[in-house]
Amino acid sequence: MIPMNNKLFGLTGADKKKIIDRIRNRNREDRKDRETELHQGQKYSNKIEDIPEEYYKVELLPGLKQLQIQLSAAEKFGIDNPFFKVHESVASNETRIGDKTYINYSSYNYLGLCGHPRVSKAAKDAIDRYGTSASASRPVSGERPIHRELERKLAEIHNTEDCVVFVSGHATNVTTIGCLFGKDDLILHDALAHNSIIQGAVLSGAKRLPFPHNDYVSLDKILEENRIKYKKVLIVLEGIYSMDGDIPQLPEFIALKKKHKLLLMVDEAHSLGVLGSTGRGIKEYFGINGNDIDISMGTLSKTLCSCGGYIAGKRALVENLKFNAPGFVYSVGMSPPLAAAALAALEIMINEPERVNRLRNVGRKFYEMVKGVGLNTGFCQGFAIVPVIAGSSISGVKLSNALLENHINVQPIIYPAVEERAARLRFFLCASHTEEQLQYTVEILARECKKQKNSTMYSISR
Ligand code: PMP
Repeated sequence: MIPMNNKLFGLTGADKKKIIDRIRNRNREDRKDRETELHQGQKYSNKIEDIPEEYYKVELLPGLKQLQIQLSAAEKFGIDNPFFKVHESVASNETRIGDKTYINYSSYNYLGLCGHPRVSKAAKDAIDRYGTSASASRPVSGERPIHRELERKLAEIHNTEDCVVFVSGHATNVTTIGCLFGKDDLILHDALAHNSIIQGAVLSGAKRLPFPHNDYVSLDKILEENRIKYKKVLIVLEGIYSMDGDIPQLPEFIALKKKHKLLLMVDEAHSLGVLGSTGRGIKEYFGINGNDIDISMGTLSKTLCSCGGYIAGKRALVENLKFNAPGFVYSVGMSPPLAAAALAALEIMINEPERVNRLRNVGRKFYEMVKGVGLNTGFCQGFAIVPVIAGSSISGVKLSNALLENHINVQPIIYPAVEERAARLRFFLCASHTEEQLQYTVEILARECKKQKNSTMYSISR
């Protein structure tokens, strides 16, 4: 990859030689490592004829076995599979599944921008201008003006120097964490962190340690004991925890970042459009400076009703990722209509803060109503995500199916996405949910929970 930034060319001959030598040595060491690994490979059978089928037949690979166990358990209990329902319309506070309309709590369309005429028009205009694909990775001919327009706007709302967008939110976390950290580093993430954060940490090869949910006091202790054993240390938080609907005490984590000299990353997938008076996220909520979070991550698939992810931060960070993150360098540029849709949605979010305000009221109201009938909402703090703990995967699925029969679509979250005893229904609220919809839902929910006679559903909220 040839660096495009002129500053990188201002190196002396000796500096350039040092860099080239370092790359050569790294390649040599990588090769040596691979060779040693091959020799260390354990022997699983003596003869080629003895290799068991589960090592080379796709239908016998381990993930499938677990799935078959779950499906046959559901069948035994006569429970319909609640996954992969086909929606025939824009999914907002309502949706169409088959030929029926449902009150819907299973979409990220927080501010009702998916299906908004201006967002759809922006996407169509981008198709007319650029077609449907960037047709190459951004460094090598995939760059379109709409990419930089979107990135500048995202940087502006996060109050950072720059931003870079990726084609998937999940891949943004994986490739960013995987690229910036390595075997001499330590990654500390909240125990309830999203899968993409964990996958990134695993890929990086760094030591990975979860800390108890939102517990900055325990985290401080871990850091007291471990900080100096590692080179770089990263703390990863979420702006709103996606399964639980609660938020971290960001100022306390920033204090730890400063005390222990480490990097702080916050995944704002669910807090953009939700937290702060204009939806700018967790920094706006706490009134915090742009530079106190080193790596601001977000997705375009929630409030911004598109597809993709981004990293906002200092120009040095963005530049580093644009030349080094494999998920950016070796992946196609974001599809132009998706970038245009996200940009249009961002503009509406900023110009119409009443949407954010409405969502805030809906979220709080629903949370209070659910608590009012004595149900267990876990750690929830009443933003746009409200879980109802069902206590087991089977209870969660049964409850979801019972609500569906009453024209309410809410997805169960079951093991392994959460611990078995923490299986739940997860309600996503939209700015457009009406008071009647919320009231009807809580009435049916309370009635169906009572039928199940499961005490976990009624534990006191934390
Ligand atoms: N981070 C968090 C916290 C998420 O909840 C998700 C997915 N819901 C992602 C990252 C991945 O984003 P995407 O679905 O846009 O790939």
